[in-house]
Amino acid sequence: MVTQAPFPNRERPDGAAFDAPGMPKFRSRFTEQLPADPEASNNRRQVTGACYSRVQPTRVANPRLIAHSREVAELLGLPAGVYASAEFLEVMSGNRLLRGMDPYATCYGGHQFGNWAGQLGDGRAINLGEIINQQGKRWVLQLKGAGLTPYSRSADGLAVLRSSVREFLCSEAMHHLGVPTTRALSLVTTGEQVMRDMFYDGKSKYEPGAIVCRVAPSFTRFGSFEIFAARGEHTLLKQLADYTIETDFPHIGTPSPSTYVAWFEEICRRTADMIVQWMRVGFVHGVMNTDNMSVLGLTIDYGPYGWLDNFDPDWTPNTTDAHGKRYRFGRQPDIALWNLHKLGNALYPLVKEAEPLQEALSAYSTQFNLGWRAMMAAKLGLSESEQEDDGQLVSDLLDLLAATETDMTIFFRRLADVHLDSIAQSDALHESVMQPLMTAYYTPDRLEDHIGTMLVWLGRYARRIRNAGMPDRVRRKQMNRVNPKYVIRNYLAQLAIDKAEQGDSSMVNELLELSKRPYDEQPAMEHYAKKRPDWARRRAGCSMLSCSS
Ligand code: AMP
Ligand code: MG
Repeated sequence: MVTQAPFPNRERPDGAAFDAPGMPKFRSRFTEQLPADPEASNNRRQVTGACYSRVQPTRVANPRLIAHSREVAELLGLPAGVYASAEFLEVMSGNRLLRGMDPYATCYGGHQFGNWAGQLGDGRAINLGEIINQQGKRWVLQLKGAGLTPYSRSADGLAVLRSSVREFLCSEAMHHLGVPTTRALSLVTTGEQVMRDMFYDGKSKYEPGAIVCRVAPSFTRFGSFEIFAARGEHTLLKQLADYTIETDFPHIGTPSPSTYVAWFEEICRRTADMIVQWMRVGFVHGVMNTDNMSVLGLTIDYGPYGWLDNFDPDWTPNTTDAHGKRYRFGRQPDIALWNLHKLGNALYPLVKEAEPLQEALSAYSTQFNLGWRAMMAAKLGLSESEQEDDGQLVSDLLDLLAATETDMTIFFRRLADVHLDSIAQSDALHESVMQPLMTAYYTPDRLEDHIGTMLVWLGRYARRIRNAGMPDRVRRKQMNRVNPKYVIRNYLAQLAIDKAEQGDSSMVNELLELSKRPYDEQPAMEHYAKKRPDWARRRAGCSMLSCSS
């Protein structure tokens, strides 16, 4: 049965918000400083004249803690071992509030798949409030899947275990990989069943409900500004922009037209940095709508994302995107620019001049190109002082990887193990040089033509490394710092989900532990570094994902 809760806003079952010993104080500058939706009822509607609506999480029947992140708990300064307490579970499931929490859902819009979609908003995310940690850093806690809000549109405000495991694991893994991202504190199941039609093909079924507590300095999106610009609510636009600059970009200075431009430029640069990191590790977001783009340059809203197994710039994990492939791996840099353009338009009423915004936007391409070159050089063990034909060396390699099914993660990791020290300038390379790379190929028996061209490329690479005067030992060490051994491959997450749905969360927790040291060898975990098995090639959840979550 779906225990679809009635609209919340009802009395808390355990009475008033409470104090838990040792817990940091909660408050909410967002609700203190920005205009609230005056309507208190929690019915689906267009919310105008406000940045957010106050809303209570929906009480759930039987919460159970599946996993938590110790690092995030420490970051927030939560008491040691807090996750073992009944209170922690109650708060992370939305059943109780701590004193100082003032829960709210924010109003935002967005461009989805290239079209303006109007009001979207936090349809199932409820912000609990914020903590200032001991280092003075601000963190907002948000429950995803905690029930209906005025922004739920036709959906139920809930999340299922499948997508929650994926969000929880991936956001922590991305952090440890060095990719800017929102974090995840906890993953709980609700004890309730939620109906989902995973592939929108009429085959609905019940799935376990779940809630992830996400953590970030802010969850403000490009679409948070677009909605006010689209509605001509310029006072709100300014209020949210000023609040965001004062809160998250205080170094930029007092809000003014030139400050807005400088701020936009910083968003452009941060976005470029984030995309470079996605490209480094083979991450495909899958649904880069402007409502899923953080103004802090954080990876946000993990839905039908995926990791490249075989290097294929044309791959998109999202079945909804299978036709146009708008959000395919190789297009992510262009899409980010398209999205920034939309944000720039939304900020225009604050600046009232197109040229400075246009100029700020060009910072994206400059930053991305610089970042991409440095990143690819690092993946090859080269220093940043690049040589003229490095760009060609990189693009020829990427063509080669795409030409035959080659596992991206394994290839770069194993490239560090190819012996180059012993190769002299004039040597024609022998096939045996390729030995460390062979595990990266999905069709090793169909490589005849490929091996020849790969050896030619390796010869060029060997010469370049020799010119840089870099011994194998040093190169290997440097490359292993940027080429991860472990990513939470799509099929691994799916295996963990299969088990978790049977009530066994051991693999979720094992993958969480694994993901904390993605660049270390971790010999006991070697099986998690293997390439995608053949059965996962077309299995739902492993190669095809949908927005249904
Ligand atoms: P997404 O594609 O997941 O980023 O979601 C796009 C919009 O749909 C956002 O406004 C979400 O809050 C909303 N949404 C997605 N799933 C649900 C759901 N199950 N219930 C309510 N709103 C949802
Ligand atoms: Mg979203």
